[in-house]
Order: sequence, then structure tokens, then C-alpha cells
Amino acid sequence: MFESLSERLDSAFKSLKGEGRITELNIAATVKEIRRALIDADVNYKIAKEFTDKVKDAVLGEKVITAISPGQLMTKIVKDELTELMGGNEVELNAKGNPAIILIAGLQGSGKTTFSGKLANYLKGKKGFSPMLVAADIYRPAAIDQLKVLGGQIGVDVYSEPENKDAVSIAQNAVKEAKTRNKNVLIIDTAGRLAVDEVMMTEVANVKNAVNPQEILFVVDSMTGQDAVNTAKAFNDRLNFSGVVLTKLDGDTRGGAALSIKYTVDKPIKFISSGEKMDTLDVFYPERMAQRILGMGDITTLVEKAQAQYDEVQAKKLEKKIRKNQFDFEDFKQQLDQIKKMGNLKDLMGMIPGVGKAIKDIEISDDAFKGIEAMINSMTPHERANPDSINLSRRTRIAKGSGKELADVNAFMKQFEQMKSMMKMMNKMPMGRMGGFGKK
Ligand code: GDP
Repeated sequence: MFESLSERLDSAFKSLKGEGRITELNIAATVKEIRRALIDADVNYKIAKEFTDKVKDAVLGEKVITAISPGQLMTKIVKDELTELMGGNEVELNAKGNPAIILIAGLQGSGKTTFSGKLANYLKGKKGFSPMLVAADIYRPAAIDQLKVLGGQIGVDVYSEPENKDAVSIAQNAVKEAKTRNKNVLIIDTAGRLAVDEVMMTEVANVKNAVNPQEILFVVDSMTGQDAVNTAKAFNDRLNFSGVVLTKLDGDTRGGAALSIKYTVDKPIKFISSGEKMDTLDVFYPERMAQRILGMGDITTLVEKAQAQYDEVQAKKLEKKIRKNQFDFEDFKQQLDQIKKMGNLKDLMGMIPGVGKAIKDIEISDDAFKGIEAMINSMTPHERANPDSINLSRRTRIAKGSGKELADVNAFMKQFEQMKSMMKMMNKMPMGRMGGFGKK
């Protein structure tokens, strides 16, 4: 995410290395470099200029603290200012109501329908929410089907009236239906156009006036940079929306939209979406994003993602098996599945401080586990549960079944054994016990 911006800022700070203290003269080049980096990330000139003026004032206003180098001080101030630029504190979604109504607006292709599904999935996983999706795109029958498919995947009801060509009455009927079905959150996916269009705006505005939503979320494709910001302005002038959703942050986004939208429309970014899978939605935290941009990682999010996948019963079982040295391929596969559920692998690794920079040029695809999975899938249940039973002829069969070489299977088996003995060792150490592997 925002790799090129991260790199440019990093090299801007480097020019301060070796400087004993901050002076107006020695920060001039750094400040200029930061401004260029922002402009190249598609932040408009005015915002970039204002940003660097603030950074400069803040740096020069700092008392000289010898414990902190000028480079470190600059990094901290830029982090604070980036956080501020993106909204300061996070702003929670308001989903209180009976039902709470969340209206989704944006251009066609921005990711509205996908986001609607993700939001329903997110709310469904939170205590007390029972969402229903509403297909109010009256122009594209495919949009209704798309929402139905997503609803089916996540187990959420989808309300639609394929024959009705009036988005307002669909929305009104959906509100009544939500009450009958005891649904307390309604997510209304509206029609979009390829560009800002009067008819589309009027229609969404009419739905808004008819159902009085708690939230109007404007969805925008972050890959579109400055255009995203301009579109946001047009929608906000008309709808006075309550929050922004940035989509496609898994793509090659430069960062301009994330950095300038709050400034331009003065509405908070509430969610960021980074993939086509239903669980790739995150609440937007300005400070965490600033940290990620500056290569400081984002351990908080990483831990939260791990916690979300943590299954206490399963963890206890696993702990017991490790203690008895019975960890097998089936357990291994389950662990892989859990990691995969946490999200995009490269993104996850980038949340570890310092790692993002180190792996930026390395191709890490989510298929990284595919070979291993293929090998495990080619084992019989008996083999998975009894790794010791896998002799040469079985290995040869597994290699064939998974499209791998015998050497690959051998290497994997060896790694697995090494991992197992390491687990056993950790289990005996007091630290291991603290880490949750040991006896209680
Ligand atoms: P809508 O026209 O606004 O409803 O947009 P859709 O939800 O149909 O999304 C348009 C396309 O973008 C689809 O192919 C989606 O799968 C894809 N898409 C949506 N959100 C994301 C995202 O966060 N990341 C990626 N990579 N693709 C996305």
C-alpha cells in the first residue's frame, strides 16, 4: 500500500541523517522533498503545500531535544500531521436505529455492491446486529443478482423487487420488510453511473429524503486519485454524506485519495476495502494508516486480525496435541487456513514494523501456500494424522497427486519435522508456556 510514497518519504528523512540539530536551512531540502512526494502521490498542490508548511512550523517550533535526532523528530511530526490530514481520530459507524439505515452511494464500478456485502458481513459478525441488504439499483438486473450472490455467501437476506422501477418505493418497502423480519440494520445499495450524473444524484437524494438514513456512505475507488476527490466533492455537495469508503487499496494506489479526501469534503473515511473477498474490510484508523505509510508497521491491526481468528476451543486442542507431540498435517492445514483468513499475505507482513520496506520488491502472492496445501490435500486422512507412516512409496504418490517433485515432498516433510521439534522445545521453555503453548 502506498509503496512509492513510503519510499520517497523515507529518503526525504535520510537527508537529515548526520545533522546534529534542526535549522531552517537543513530542513529546507527535506520539506521540499516531502512536498514533491505528496504531489507525486496525487495529492493536490494546495494540500501538499499547506501540509509541509505545517510540518516546517512544527519542526522549527520544537525545543531541541538531544535524545531525538532531527530525522526521528521529522518522522514523528510527519506522522502526526499525516494522521491529522486523514482525520485525526477514527469515527465509528452509526448503526443505531430500528432499523438503522445505511445508504450506499458512488459511481458505477467504485465497489458499492462489493462493499455493501462486506459491510453486512462485518455487522453480522458484531454482536447485536442483524443486517439485511437492499438491491435498489433499478437499471442493472445483474446488480441484483450480484448482491444476491454475495448475500448467499455471507448468509444475509437480500431484499429486491426486480419488477419495480422506483428506487424510492423499493427502499420504503424494504424498511417495512426489515421490521417484519426483525432486521435491525438495512444496507441500501443504489445505482451508480460511470460519471457524476444529475439523474443518478436526484434518485439517491430522493431515497435519502424518503428513508432518512443514519449513514450515507460514499464509496470511491482509491485508484482514481484526484478524480476520487473531485467525485467526492460532487456527491457531498448534493448528498451531504456522512462518511467515505475507500476501495481497492489492495491495488497499486498512490495514496492521493486517502490523503486528500478528508481535507476536501471534511467527512471522515470510515472504512477501507482491500480485496474482493467478503472479509477484506477494515475500519479506517488515521494514525495506523500514517504509521503504515511511514514504514512503522501496524502491529495493532495485525494483533486484532489474529484475535478475530482465534478460536479458544481449537487453540486448547492444538496446545494439547503439541504438548503430546501429536501435531499433524491436519492441524498444520487448519493453521494455514486461519492465516489465510486474516487477509492478503503481503499486506499482513507489511504490518510488522520494518518488514514492509524489506519485502516491497518481493512477490508474495496469496498462492504462496498453494504447493504445501496441494501436498497435504494429496495425503489420505490416515497419513495426515500419522506423519510417521509416510514412507517413500507414499511420498512418491503424494508428489504425483500434487504435481510436485519427490524432492519437494521430502523437503516439506523435513521442514514439518523441524517445526514439530521446535514446537516441542518451546513447549518446555517457560517462555513457551507464557506464549500459550505450554501446560496450564
Ligand atoms: P459497483 O458498480 O459500485 O457496485 O461496483 P462492484 O462492487 O460491482 O465492483 C466493481 C469491481 O471492482 C468488481 O469486479 C469487484 O470485484 C471489484 N472490487 C470491488 N472492491 C474491490 C476491492 O477492494 N479490491 C479489488 N481488488 N477489487 C474490488
